[in-house]
Amino acid sequence: MIVILLGPPGAGKGTQAQTLAKTRGIVQLSTGDMLRAAVKAGTDVGRQADTIMKSGGLVSDEIVIRIISDRIQEPDCAKGFLLDGFPRTLPQAVGLDKLLEQQGKTLDVVVEMKVDDTALIERITGRFTCAKCGTGYHDTFKPTKAKDTCDSCGSHEFTRRADDNAETVKSRLMAYYRETAPLIGYYFAKGKLKSIDGMAQIDEVERQLNTVLDAAAA
Ligand code: AMP
Repeated sequence: MIVILLGPPGAGKGTQAQTLAKTRGIVQLSTGDMLRAAVKAGTDVGRQADTIMKSGGLVSDEIVIRIISDRIQEPDCAKGFLLDGFPRTLPQAVGLDKLLEQQGKTLDVVVEMKVDDTALIERITGRFTCAKCGTGYHDTFKPTKAKDTCDSCGSHEFTRRADDNAETVKSRLMAYYRETAPLIGYYFAKGKLKSIDGMAQIDEVERQLNTVLDAAAA
């Protein structure tokens, strides 16, 4: 199935996408992760994206549509995928419609994770990730079970994203409300939108998401 997770930075898209990838075997496609990998690898795309990402702005539609277009043609996406952080603008949404149409595929559902703005900064600034396996954590909401040890792979090395600071988060939130929030109306009009309470506990959000996905798959 093809699913989009929609919500502002800090809504929990990445956390839930990682869980769904494990529990339902759906491939998680995060344009943020792909761009960070390109920055780390020092590719042309990475060089172009680096400064924009540091400022909390959006990378060009052309670049991200190309990345997604290439990625969804890979064999592991044949049975479906879950988009986390894409589309983020109306031209990206239209671009995705075209790509899916060309490939004879249909978008199943767009899940909007509704959250309270005031909680987002705290949620974002407490995030960290295992440097080895990429499992995501949070100082308050999802700490590691054993101190400084990854629950998944046992590594002791963690990283924090350079753009997860209070200043950049404000720009990222503004970009969300200006460019991405209009997608809620776009997908509502197509009859694809379902909303869940992103403020609930992580397990409860996961339960709500599974209910939505089960209904969409039925
Ligand atoms: P994320 O990991 O989804 O929070 O994305 C981190 C940063 O990558 C964003 O603040 C943007 O600069 C960039 N980015 C990720 N996905 C997109 C996208 N679909 N369109 C434009 N920029 C993106």
